[in-house]
Amino acid sequence: MTSWRRAAARQLSEVGHTFVFGLSDGRVIDGRRGGNSARFLNHACAPNCEAIETGNRVFIHAITDIERGKELFIDYGLAVDGEITDDIREQYACHCGAPACRQSMLGGSTPL
Ligand SMILES: [Zn+2]
Repeated sequence: MTSWRRAAARQLSEVGHTFVFGLSDGRVIDGRRGGNSARFLNHACAPNCEAIETGNRVFIHAITDIERGKELFIDYGLAVDGEITDDIREQYACHCGAPACRQSMLGGSTPL
């Protein structure tokens, strides 16, 4: 099992805000192909869900109690290829409002 944070989502810079899930073995799940319900998950620095990789699938697990009708969030922990420029920092700025907001949807080992 690999958490979303360790499995770092990767961004395809050529097509803007299309994301792929990076799996622990190097394969990816491309959000452009067929789509899936994960596209409804927004980013928060203090999320109420996390993505867990099990075999060939990624499951979204609640990590807090979530009331019916509340929005679901995960920490995107985005990784981008190449240099992290000011434009990229701006493009992926976070305004989630959490006390521990790190001001960015980038994460993992990506230098901010
Ligand atoms: Zn935030």
